[in-house]
Amino acid sequence: MQNNENKLMKTQYEYDNQEYIVLNKCPHCNLDIHPTVKSRFNLENSNYNVTALSLSCPSCKRDYFIFNDFRSEVAGFEKFIMSFPNYGFSENALVKNTSKKFQNLYMQSINSELLGHIDIAFFGYVKSLEILVKEIATVQHPESEDVILFSNLISCLEQFHATNMHLFSKKLLEVLKNDYLFYHKTEDFHTCSELIKDSINYFLLYLELLLKTFSINNQSKTEKPSK
Ligand SMILES: [Zn+2]
Repeated sequence: MQNNENKLMKTQYEYDNQEYIVLNKCPHCNLDIHPTVKSRFNLENSNYNVTALSLSCPSCKRDYFIFNDFRSEVAGFEKFIMSFPNYGFSENALVKNTSKKFQNLYMQSINSELLGHIDIAFFGYVKSLEILVKEIATVQHPESEDVILFSNLISCLEQFHATNMHLFSKKLLEVLKNDYLFYHKTEDFHTCSELIKDSINYFLLYLELLLKTFSINNQSKTEKPSK
């Protein structure tokens, strides 16, 4: 549904003949970047060996830290500990269309996943999708706000997003209908989580288009009387 290069991911980054795990997007401005290293710090005691890279975003010019775990038993993407500050959305145009409630939950879900709390992240994404789907349905059907608020995610999708439903696989509906069962039974937890994240991205784009169409329609309405 969405190109991988647009997704927030942990990625390998080589500096001074050493491999680090960093984010492919700037935590400040959310753009895909190849950051530059400003400095490197090692923190070590008898149990832990942590390296902090001070990185600079070539786009927004702001700095941030990425922490990596350099214990010998930790490999690959597991090396990533955290970024400071956390990943944020303050300049993402698509997310700006949504309510603060959605933004808070979505951002907490993303940062939970980055910290490795994938179970909390999964349920956070499902609830984020629900809030987003209901916000869009309310924009399109303001007269049905009460029905929308009290419906569950699936019936809201079926009732108010029927034109979008064909885009989603049966699998997504299964995940959403049985999120608790799926959570316990499925072996492909990662795919389920990615499916929900793709749907959130899809609806963020859809909301952007919808609001643009609204403003074009409103403009042509207000322009008519002056002619
Ligand atoms: Zn930036």
